[in-house]
Amino acid sequence: MRVDLDSVAANCRVLAAQVRGDLMAVVKADGFGHGAVDVARTALASGATWLGVTALSEALTLRDAGLRAPVLSWLNPVGADFGAGVRAGVDLAVPSVAHLAAVAGAAGDGRSAPARVHLHLDTGLARDGAAPEEWPALCRAARSAELDGRVQVVGVMGHLALADLGGPAPNAAGRAAFDHGLDVARAAGLRPRHRHLAATAATLTDPAAHHTMVRVGAGLVGIDPSGSTALHPALTLTAPVVSVRQVPAGTGVGYGHAWTSSRATTLALLPVGYADGLPRAATGRSEVLLGGRRHPVVGRISMDQLVVDLGPGSPVRPGDTATVVGTGDDGAPTAAEWARWAQALEHEVVTGLGSAPPRVRRRVTTHPTWSPS
Ligand SMILES: *Cc1c(COP(=O)(O)O)cnc(C)c1O
Repeated sequence: MRVDLDSVAANCRVLAAQVRGDLMAVVKADGFGHGAVDVARTALASGATWLGVTALSEALTLRDAGLRAPVLSWLNPVGADFGAGVRAGVDLAVPSVAHLAAVAGAAGDGRSAPARVHLHLDTGLARDGAAPEEWPALCRAARSAELDGRVQVVGVMGHLALADLGGPAPNAAGRAAFDHGLDVARAAGLRPRHRHLAATAATLTDPAAHHTMVRVGAGLVGIDPSGSTALHPALTLTAPVVSVRQVPAGTGVGYGHAWTSSRATTLALLPVGYADGLPRAATGRSEVLLGGRRHPVVGRISMDQLVVDLGPGSPVRPGDTATVVGTGDDGAPTAAEWARWAQALEHEVVTGLGSAPPRVRRRVTTHPTWSPS
C-alpha cells in the first residue's frame, strides 16, 4: 500500500484556503487508514494548526511521535486516564458533568496547570456531545471548575448531521443550535476562544459554519462527502500476480462457483482479499488494473485472495503487478469505485484498507515537496 503525502498536502491547502480561522486535521482511525502520524505531519506543514482524534490513546500516540501542535481528543469514557492527557498537554472535549468532574479531578488540586477543555454540545445527531437540556448545567459546572483553577474552557464544539447534503440550507438547525449553545456558555461566564462546528463538507460548502476553527478529516485523504470539490485520493494498493493459468469454458471459480467461464480464458491469482480491507460485497462488480488494462474480478472475493479474468491470450505473467485500488491517475479503480461496487462508503473502504494485516499494509509514503502555493 502506498500513501501519497503530496496529495494529502495539496488537499490540506485546498481546505485551508477556504477558511480564515484555524484548521484542525482530524487523524482518527489512524488517519482514515493513511497513517495518523504521517497525515498529521503533512497537514501541519500544509496549513493545519491543530490535530484532532477521538480517543485519548490516539492523541498520546501523536505526542509520542514528537508532534507538539495542539491536539484535541473528543470521545472518551468517563473512566479514561485523563491525567495522562493533561500531562501530555492534550485538550479534552467534555460532553457531560460527569466527564467534567473526571477531567477536573485529573487536573489535581488547582496548583498544577488546569486541564484545557472544549465543551461538546450535541447539535443534532443525538450521538456524542451534551444533550441540549444538559448544556446549561454543564456550562455552569464548567465555569465553577474554571474559577477553582482546575479547568480552562478554551473551546466549544458541535457537529453537523446534514452537512454532507452540501450547502448552507441543510445546516440551518445545527448552526442555530450551536449559536444558542454559545450564548448559554457566555451567559454562564465562559469565554471559549475556539468555537468549532464544521467538518469537511461544511468547510467546503457552508462558510457560515466555520466559526474560529474547522475540523477536517475525510478531505485530507481526498474524500469530499458533499461531492462539491475535486480533491485527490492518496492511497494505492497493488498486489503481485501469484499465478496465471489457462482454463476451458465451463470452469467454476472460487467458493460456490459464483462465476463460471463462458469461454476458454486466462485467470490470474492475486494475494489480496477481504482481510486486507477489500469489501467482499463488491463481488461480481469489481475490477483491477493489470497489464495496462482493467479486468474483472471473478468469483467471490476470498479472505486473502481474488481471481482476475484476463481473457484469452493475455501477456500477463506471474510477478506482474496489479493495481487493485488507485488514485484515479492511471485508470485503476479508486476507493470511491470500490465503495460504489460494494454499496459502501468511501470512508469504510479506506479505513478497511488501512487496518489490513502488515503483510499488505506495509505503508510506503512518498515525501511531500513543500511548495507553498
Ligand atoms: C470525524 C469527525 C470530523 C471530521 O469529519 P470529516 O467529514 O471526515 O471531515 C470532525 N468532527 C467530528 C466530531 C468527527 O467525529
